[in-house]
Amino acid sequence: YLSTPADTGITPKPPTTLSETYPGERANATFVTLARNVDVWEIAKSIRQVEDRFNRKFHYDWVFLNDKPFNDEFKKVTTALVSGKTKYGLIPEKHWSFPPHIDQEKAKKAREAMHAKGIIYGDSISYRHMCRFESGFFFQQELLLDYEYYWRVEPSIKLYCDIDYDVFKFMKDNNKKYGFTLSLYEYIETIPTLWDSTKAFMKEHPEHIAKNNAMQFISDDGGEKYNRCHFWSNFEVGDLNFWRGQAYTDYFNKLDKDGGFFYERWGDAPVHSIAASLLLPKDQLHFFNDIGYYHVPFTHCPTSEEDRIKLKCSCEPKKNFDWKGYSCTTRFFDMMGLEKPKGWETQLD
Ligand code: GDP
Ligand code: MN
Repeated sequence: YLSTPADTGITPKPPTTLSETYPGERANATFVTLARNVDVWEIAKSIRQVEDRFNRKFHYDWVFLNDKPFNDEFKKVTTALVSGKTKYGLIPEKHWSFPPHIDQEKAKKAREAMHAKGIIYGDSISYRHMCRFESGFFFQQELLLDYEYYWRVEPSIKLYCDIDYDVFKFMKDNNKKYGFTLSLYEYIETIPTLWDSTKAFMKEHPEHIAKNNAMQFISDDGGEKYNRCHFWSNFEVGDLNFWRGQAYTDYFNKLDKDGGFFYERWGDAPVHSIAASLLLPKDQLHFFNDIGYYHVPFTHCPTSEEDRIKLKCSCEPKKNFDWKGYSCTTRFFDMMGLEKPKGWETQLD
């Protein structure tokens, strides 16, 4: 028995307007992934998500970075999946090691103390190298020097909605420098003195602090204390030249000198977020509401049903983290003077 659309009451869908390759010019942009060889199958899943929802229409390049050489299997599998060019970079040792001024004894004690407190990655050296690398060096890698914009992708992520426009062109055309999907509070135990270093930097370099910055997003008292809000940096779309500029260079160098990547466990997420909030005018930050996204354990799912239908989202609306108690996205909306989308009240904790 074959029912016709009239029988079911379901309106037939209009043909999709976007056929294959999206017409027009591309931005100077690439995906970028830091990974180990053992991550190959988890990054394969991420690539498939990104290709199916976006890149099969745009064919942007993909740069892979590793502190060890990628093996043939990693290269073969990822190259087969990416519709743009793939490039594989080996991170120079100076970008993945202890700088000479670090006191090894002090760093070791700090790891042991964090481990005893049960803090995630508290005893890990490689995690600290990773955070320092993502904070200060990814944008300096030779393979990235030719590009202007990047989109960071981690293993095991999901994209839930179609992205039928050029995200990188959007950044350029709207003068956006930093885009995010999820925001939340950082564990204080990992960054006890990050704000002290930041305040010292602000004093030393008042010329780098942007007018109309996003201080209100990261502090509730005009900069006295950090409220621990940060953009979740496993997803980032950004302007590489922002990180390469003098303001961020001075900020990173100050943090690196103070040693908190090793004496504490400063994450690249709070570091990037504080920098983007203080060194950029707030209208250069962008919340990608239309990019449905998952990285364990949080989901961003567009709040409005109209958006979810239009974008063919497959996420469960109730899982949307945006308006839950541990998210900072409400603060972002308040700061920007944005109205929360209809239905947000149905997605509280
Ligand atoms: P989490 O998301 O904070 O739990 O950390 P992940 O384990 O996802 O690591 C963050 C990113 O760094 C991911 O893209 C990982 O693939 C990558 N990564 C983490 N540790 C290492 C490492 O030791 N070597 C390399 N090459 N990549 C790493
Ligand atoms: Mn991750």
